[in-house]
Amino acid sequence: MSQRSGPFGDAVRGPAPLNQAVATLGSEQDLPPVTGELTTDPAAQSATADDFGHIVHRTPQYVLKPASAADISATVAWAASQGLKVAARGQGHSTYGRPMVPDGAVVDMSTLNTIHSIASDRMVVDAGAKWSAVIDAALARGLTPPVLTAYTDLSVGGTLSVGGIGGMSHLYGIQTDNVLELNVVVADGRELTCSATQNTDLFNAVRAGLGQVGIITRTTLKLIPAPARVRRYQLFYPDQPTLTADQRTVLNERRFQHIQGKFIPDGPGGWKFQLEGGVFYTGSAPGDDAVLAGLSDTRASAVIADLSYSDYLNTFDALENILRGNGQWFNPHPWWLTFLPDSAAESLAAEILDQLTDDGVGPFGQVTYYPMTTEAFRTPLLRVPGGSVIFPFNLIRLPATSDQATIDQMVTQNRAFYERIRSAGGLLYPVTAMAMSKDDWKIHFGSGYPLLSSAKTKYDPQHIFTPGYEVF
Ligand SMILES: Cc1cc2nc3c(=O)[nH]c(=O)nc-3n(C[C@H](O)[C@H](O)[C@H](O)COP(=O)(O)OP(=O)(O)OC[C@H]3O[C@@H](n4cnc5c(N)ncnc54)[C@H](O)[C@@H]3O)c2cc1C
Repeated sequence: MSQRSGPFGDAVRGPAPLNQAVATLGSEQDLPPVTGELTTDPAAQSATADDFGHIVHRTPQYVLKPASAADISATVAWAASQGLKVAARGQGHSTYGRPMVPDGAVVDMSTLNTIHSIASDRMVVDAGAKWSAVIDAALARGLTPPVLTAYTDLSVGGTLSVGGIGGMSHLYGIQTDNVLELNVVVADGRELTCSATQNTDLFNAVRAGLGQVGIITRTTLKLIPAPARVRRYQLFYPDQPTLTADQRTVLNERRFQHIQGKFIPDGPGGWKFQLEGGVFYTGSAPGDDAVLAGLSDTRASAVIADLSYSDYLNTFDALENILRGNGQWFNPHPWWLTFLPDSAAESLAAEILDQLTDDGVGPFGQVTYYPMTTEAFRTPLLRVPGGSVIFPFNLIRLPATSDQATIDQMVTQNRAFYERIRSAGGLLYPVTAMAMSKDDWKIHFGSGYPLLSSAKTKYDPQHIFTPGYEVF
C-alpha cells in the first residue's frame, strides 16, 4: 500500500494510490514513516487543489494528514531529500492558491488540532485547530483571545501566517502580537521552539511570514478575561466624509472595544456608509446616550443590539449561511485587502469607490473601511503604513457569478488598485487575489525583507516551503 496509516480510519485504500507512489518514487520504502496518513489518493489531492478563492487550482502529489508533529518532521525532511515542495493547509480560506503545491506535498493541518492546556493567561493548542474551537474552550473558562478575526472557522496557523486582524486590533495589535511561543518544523525536519526570547529570528520570520520558513505545529496563545456581553451599534451615514469624521472620534475617544466600518452596496451605483462599534461589558450595559453623544449618524436608522460576547463573535455565521444557501460561497472570491495611510485614506478610498460598480463586490459583498491605531502592533513582517493610524481598506468581493472573464477582470482591477495605493504609501494585506512577483514582495516587505530572507536561507535553504506566494 502507498499510504502510511494510523488513527485515520480509511487510510488504506488499495492499489491505485500504490501505483502512483511507485511511479514517482520507485518503491514504497522511499516514503517516510508516519502514524497519520500520507496519501496519493486522488480525493485527497483534489480536496487540497482549491481554496476559498476558487481562482487558482494546483494539484499536489502527496497529502499528509498528520497525527503528530513528528509526522510533519518526517514528511518535511523526506520532501526536502526528494526535492519536493511542501505547504501547510489550514482551512484553505486563502484566495489565490497560497496553500497549494503543484506536484509537491500538502500538509492538511486540520488533523493536528488538540488543545493541550488552558491557564488563566494562555492556551497551548495545535496550529491546525480552528479559532472557533479555541474560543469555545477559552470561553468555558471565562477567557478569550484578545484579537479575533471576523470569521472564526480559520485555522490558528493560517491566520498567524498572514497576521490576523480584528476589530479589537486598535487595542491589542494583531493575532501574531498575541502569541507567546510557537513550535515550528523547519526544512531539515527539526521541530524548533521559538518565542521573543528563544530562536527569535525564527519567531519573527514565522509570524506573518507567509509560511516561508517552516510549518507551525503548536502555539501558545495569550488569553485575557472575556466580557459577558457586547452592546453593538450599527450607525449609518449619508456619505464617506461624515462616516470618517465619526470613526476618528470614536477611535480617539476609545468609545468602543470593537470598531469596524464599511460601505455596503445600496442599489445601482449607490452605497450605504456604516460604522459598527461594540462596547464590551460585564454587569450593567453602557448608556446609549453617552456612547453616541455628539455623533452625526442618521440616528433614525441606527440599529442597536445587545448580544452575548459569544454571539457577537459568531455574527459572520448568518452571512455564511446565506452565501452557502444562494451559492455565492462557492463562486470565485477575488478579494483585495490593504492598509491605507491615514493622510491619504479618505481620498484613496473615494477614488477607488468611484471606479467600483455595485457589481464590483457583488450582492452581500462590502468594502471594509475604518481607522485603527497601530500602537499595539509589534510583528515585524506585518507591513502597515507608518504613523499611528492606518485604515484597513478591503474589497470583500462576493460575485454572484463564476464567469471566468468577470473574475479575470476583477483580478486585473485588483492589480491596478494595488499599484495605485502602493504609489500613495498603501500596503497589501497578503490575503489578496492577484499575482505578486518576487520584486513586488521585496517592495512589500521593505525593511522587513532582510529578516525574512536571512531566515529563509537559514531555515529553508532549498526553498521548499509554501511556493504559492512566490516570495522567493
Ligand atoms: C470569510 C473570511 C473572513 C476572513 N476574515 C478575516 C479577518 O477578519 N481578519 C483577517 O486577518 N483575516 C481574515 N480572513 C483571511 C484569513 O485570515 C486568511 O485567509 C488565512 O490565511 C486563512 O486561514 P486558513 O486556516 O484558511 O489558512 P490557509 O488558507 O489554509 O493557509 C493560508 C496560508 O498560510 C499557510 N499556513 C497555514 N497553516 C500553516 C501552518 N500551520 N504553518 C505555516 N503556514 C501555514 C498556508 O500554506 C497558506 O500559505 C478571512 C478569510 C475569509 C475566507
